[in-house]
Amino acid sequence: MIMNSLTPIELYGSDYYFLQNFKNDQRSIAIDSIRKDFPLINKNINGHPLIWLDNGATTQKPRCVIDALTTYYKEYNSNIHRGSHTLADIATKRYEEARRKVQQFLGASLPEEIIFVRGATEAINLVAETYGMKNVSYGDEILLTTMEHHSNIVPWQKLSEDTGAVIKVIPINEQGEILLEEYDKMLTTRTRIVAITHVSNILGTVNPIDQMIHMAHSKGAIVLIDGAQAACHLSVDVQKINADFYVFSGHKAFGPTGIGVLYGKKPILEKMPPWQRGGGMIKNVNFNKTEFNKLPEKFEAGTPNIADAIALGEAIDYMNKIGLDKIESYERALTQYAMESLSLVPRLRLIGTASNKTSILSFIIEPYPPDKVANHLNKYGIATRAGHHCAQPTLERYGLKSSNRASLAIYNTKKEIDLLVKTLCSIK
Ligand code: PMP
Repeated sequence: MIMNSLTPIELYGSDYYFLQNFKNDQRSIAIDSIRKDFPLINKNINGHPLIWLDNGATTQKPRCVIDALTTYYKEYNSNIHRGSHTLADIATKRYEEARRKVQQFLGASLPEEIIFVRGATEAINLVAETYGMKNVSYGDEILLTTMEHHSNIVPWQKLSEDTGAVIKVIPINEQGEILLEEYDKMLTTRTRIVAITHVSNILGTVNPIDQMIHMAHSKGAIVLIDGAQAACHLSVDVQKINADFYVFSGHKAFGPTGIGVLYGKKPILEKMPPWQRGGGMIKNVNFNKTEFNKLPEKFEAGTPNIADAIALGEAIDYMNKIGLDKIESYERALTQYAMESLSLVPRLRLIGTASNKTSILSFIIEPYPPDKVANHLNKYGIATRAGHHCAQPTLERYGLKSSNRASLAIYNTKKEIDLLVKTLCSIK
């Protein structure tokens, strides 16, 4: 097995990592201790210790997130914003605290720029159906990249059907990198929306979103970034990159399912019509007319997902305690190690070899169907994914209908990658 240098990280022992960049202030990451925070990571599956390499689908949850959910229901369960009693005050305070945690996590300037939704999918639908319906018309153009998840394709197709706008697809090269010269040519004064994934869920490519946003703005288009595969892997600063919208799902960032985030710049959100309508999002209602609430309530109709929003806030605290910069360095190095190790498996073809890549490893092993490979790994407690990963056009770019995918998070180790590779080598 190769043990190449993994700059900028040096490996000490199996699971103890010291970031060279931070040598002077002695900061380090102890993966063993992080692993102890995740109850499910330490279970046996099919008689083997679980190796969770399906983080692209969802991450496991640290104990503090699970505890936040039970504490809410055991100690201060209440509806928010409209109560006139102690528990309602506590629940409201915690829910709004969670919003401020997300605001800081994304580097947004104001808490009201953070809208709680069900997940990335819902956030994109919200933008397509409100901003899109108001600002996009016949003959306008919507640019997507070849490497989008279905959730960042299908809502725009509906917008295109409803308005007569045209969808154009930015090509990628064999490594899985966006062809920026082509993108530049495709941007026109008819481009209204550019929707780009921050990190591809099949290729692991980290896209140059700051540059792409700058290019789109120079033509007057707005940009939505799909951060579903970035949120627990990279630090994000929406003001620095100047994103108009940024979306992510809590469950892919150590939080619960059923909660996610839409960030939008306040002046843009203010001009958008509300999406769902009902209680909570109104200021005054009579049978002739309704006056809508201010941000963020305007986009949070009905009782929100209070417990899960609070638990997402806990997940953010957890990531901040480790440090997103350290998480990113560690995972990039582990990804590099995994790529080098996987390349030693006979007949394995890696899909996605961009120079800027993190956390996602897609591959096929001739002549085995991906299902067979995933089932073989599962027998040894190794959870990966086989299929189209909800990004069929990406696989199609490589002439494939299906692939295997191992996706990493902060609790994965070099030892687990070695076991993955060893088990892949034993498939018959
Ligand atoms: N975008 C990307 C890049 C994703 O990987 C996913 C989830 N696989 C989504 C969007 C959709 O996320 P969710 O199902 O949580 O809404």
